[in-house]
Amino acid sequence: VRQVSTVAVLRAAVHEARVAGRHTVLVPTMGALHEGHLALVRLAAEHGDHTVVSIFVNPTQFDRREDLAAYPRDLDGDLEALGELGSATPAVVFAPTVADIYPRPPLTSVRVEDLTDRLCGATRPGHFDGVATMVTKLLHLVQPDAAVFGRKDFQQLQVVRRLVADLDLPVAILAAPTVREADGVAMSSRNRRLDEDGRQAARALSQALRAGVLAARDQRASGGRLSSVAVQGAAEEALAAAEGIEVDYLEVLLPEELSPAPRWLPADGQLLVAVAAYVGGEVRLIDNVVVGDQEDEERLLAATA
Ligand code: AMP
Repeated sequence: VRQVSTVAVLRAAVHEARVAGRHTVLVPTMGALHEGHLALVRLAAEHGDHTVVSIFVNPTQFDRREDLAAYPRDLDGDLEALGELGSATPAVVFAPTVADIYPRPPLTSVRVEDLTDRLCGATRPGHFDGVATMVTKLLHLVQPDAAVFGRKDFQQLQVVRRLVADLDLPVAILAAPTVREADGVAMSSRNRRLDEDGRQAARALSQALRAGVLAARDQRASGGRLSSVAVQGAAEEALAAAEGIEVDYLEVLLPEELSPAPRWLPADGQLLVAVAAYVGGEVRLIDNVVVGDQEDEERLLAATA
C-alpha cells in the first residue's frame, strides 16, 4: 500500500495512473476500518484497476465537538488491513491532515437541498454540507471513474448521487450493501466505543428494522397494499421495548426522495425504514433497510435471524 498524505503527491499519483490508462475507483472513509469498509474496497477492485482509499476524519461534518474528539482513529491498523486484501489491496491510501485539506477556512460549501431536510440532516445541523463539500473535494482531487459508498449511510448515498447528477460530475457512484456483525448489528467504526452492555443494546436497531420488514411481508402475504403506518408501527413497537438506547429518530420515507411516505403504497412499493439511536449514552448509531427491495430485505432478515 502506498500511503500518501499530501495533496501534491496525491495529484501526481492520480496523474500517473491516468496517463497509464488506469481505471481509478475511490473509496472515501473516515478510517478505523472494519469489514464493511473492506467490502467497499473489494467492490472497488472489481470495477477498476487503481483503487484509492481516502482516510480522513472530516471535521466539518461533525456537529458535536465531543463526537469528533472521540471518533476512533487507527491508521496503522487500517494500513495493515488494507495490505492484507491481496489483489484488492488499494494502490493508494490518501490519509491527509486537516491542514492539507483545509489550508485555510473554506468560504465555499456544497449544499444539497431537500434530501438533507430529514433523518440525520434534521438532527445533525450542517452534517451533510460537510459531507457534500468533502466528497466534492475528494472527487476533484482523485478524479476517479467511480466512487463507492455504503448503503449503511443511505441518506449520504442519496445525497452524493444527487450532487453528482446536479453538478454533472463525471463519476459513477457504486452502492455496496450493509455488512453486519453475526448478531445483525451493522458494522460501524463507532461500535468500537461500545462496552458489552452497549453492544448488546445496539441490537435493537437492526431488530426494529427486522420487525418493519416482517410487517411488510405479512401485508404482502395477505395480498394487501403496503401500509407505511403499519411498517412504522411494527418498527416503533420493537424499538420501544428495547433497553439501553435513546432513539434519535425512526422514520419511514420514500427511498428516492427521502420525503414522507403516503399512507398506502402498492404491494410492490418501496419504503426506507431508517433509525438512529444513542447507545450507552453518547454513541450514536444508524441503520436502515429498504422494504420492497427484495435483496435488502433478504440480507437483513438473514443477518438478524
Ligand atoms: P465512514 O468511515 O463511516 O465514513 O464510512 C465510509 C464508507 O463506508 C461509507 O460509504 C459508509 O457508508 C461505508 N460503510 C460504513 N459502514 C458500513 C457497513 N457496515 N457496511 C457497508 N458499508 C459501510
